[in-house]
Amino acid sequence: MTSKPSGLDPAVTERIGELLRARGLRRMPSRIQVLAVLEPVNGHLSVAEIYQRLTACLSADTQPPDLATVYRTVTTLVDQGVLHALTLDGGVTTYGLATAPHHHAVCTQCGAIIEVPARQLSSALEHAMAGSSFALSERAGLTLRGLCPACQDNVQDFGDATDPRSPRRRDPAQRRR
Ligand SMILES: [Zn+2]
Ligand SMILES: [Zn+2]
Repeated sequence: MTSKPSGLDPAVTERIGELLRARGLRRMPSRIQVLAVLEPVNGHLSVAEIYQRLTACLSADTQPPDLATVYRTVTTLVDQGVLHALTLDGGVTTYGLATAPHHHAVCTQCGAIIEVPARQLSSALEHAMAGSSFALSERAGLTLRGLCPACQDNVQDFGDATDPRSPRRRDPAQRRR
């Protein structure tokens, strides 16, 4: 009872264990560990990223699962509907929680994938359905593209060309005719 097989905060282990039990799944340490990494992300990670973060967050006396175990665990959780897989533009497959309907915002700079709750885009989806005659469900998923917060910061570090105070802003009068 007092053992911490997952090597994580007992409160986190407890909460995620409940989530697994509610779905009739065994509370294996590897499942709890993978979900504990993905839960605060609100987005998607590749198996390699999950593995990296997992190794970093486990307590020192805990043997982290190997990459193959993480891969198997992720696959099982997808089969059970806890996670869902997303592969964009032939890139690596990433995994995110499937618990709430969501769309995805993808960073065109670094490839980070953030989840956007479906309800925030429901009226956009209705308009898209009306305009395209496609049957689009919340689960179908929209993919939005832009810059993630970290990459926005990088852009500002290099001087934002759209900043009105920037002397490099192009004068409309100089545009080629
Ligand atoms: Zn997702
Ligand atoms: Zn980014």
